[in-house]
Amino acid sequence: MTTAESTYFQTELELRRNRLIEATRDNPADDNLPQLLASVDAALSRLHAGTFGICETCHDTIEADRLICDPLLRFCLDHLSTDEQRALEKDLVLAASIQKRLLPRQDWSIDGWRAFYHYQPANVVSGDYCDLIENDGGFLFLLGDVSGKGVAASMLMSHLHATFRSLAGQNLPLQKIMEHANRLFCESTIAGQFATMIVGSANPDGKVSYVSAGHLPLFHISAAGVCAREATGVPLGMFGTTNFPVCQLTLRPGDKMLLYTDGLTEMFNAAGDEFGVGRVQSLAKKHASTEPDALLRACLDEIRNFSPTAKQTDDLTLMVLHRAA
Ligand SMILES: [Zn+2]
Repeated sequence: MTTAESTYFQTELELRRNRLIEATRDNPADDNLPQLLASVDAALSRLHAGTFGICETCHDTIEADRLICDPLLRFCLDHLSTDEQRALEKDLVLAASIQKRLLPRQDWSIDGWRAFYHYQPANVVSGDYCDLIENDGGFLFLLGDVSGKGVAASMLMSHLHATFRSLAGQNLPLQKIMEHANRLFCESTIAGQFATMIVGSANPDGKVSYVSAGHLPLFHISAAGVCAREATGVPLGMFGTTNFPVCQLTLRPGDKMLLYTDGLTEMFNAAGDEFGVGRVQSLAKKHASTEPDALLRACLDEIRNFSPTAKQTDDLTLMVLHRAA
């Protein structure tokens, strides 16, 4: 465990310890609280002894994402009791249904714009973020990818969702939204966790401002061809203070934008070839004049053809935004 991780867990455990002491003072009759306090103290002792995060059965490391969610864990996934495994499965199913409810509706449209998306976790929950928020005559579109996957990534994803939802209601310019979101994200993550994102603001007249925080190229698809728009800054959560340059583009009636996460580009086929950004660009070119929902379906077909038997290893999200002709 690195010093930063150890410091993080120490802080988290001490926070829980203080809360428990307060709660015990307020509810002296609750005998669950002293038990929890003993578990927190035991975890702090393990941290000082250097055995924190080690499974007590196999002495292998406990999965990092589970430990972030619950620093009191003492066993890896393979060595849970049957009851614990069942409880965990139930929790994951619940988390997945909560996450689904955070997604925008599927038949989304506003003032001449339509949006279509496909959101597919690699496992039960996803670390991809996808949202559409109406504001001030236009709307914000957001697509991102939190580092890692699984439960910890999905928690950061819902954190991003809450952050951007509350910032969007405050009528701030895009640059300010990004600065605030970045600071909040930095404060809430441990070292090494960040998110690549595209956050854009679109208006009924087709004008779009966007920031790409270290994310894969966005494709603007128009009658003139397909134009790749590269990242404009570093990922969210990497540095506490950083600028997020805002870029502009205009979508004429009939134009589309294609956004996606690395679950698409970093897919491998049986021969070991990576799908790559080039294939996404070719797809966009090939389907430049197709309807936005058909473009989305064509992308999904292409993935299936590229790698029919491969197990999905990363969260996958695609979004197509279309300005109606
Ligand atoms: Zn184990």
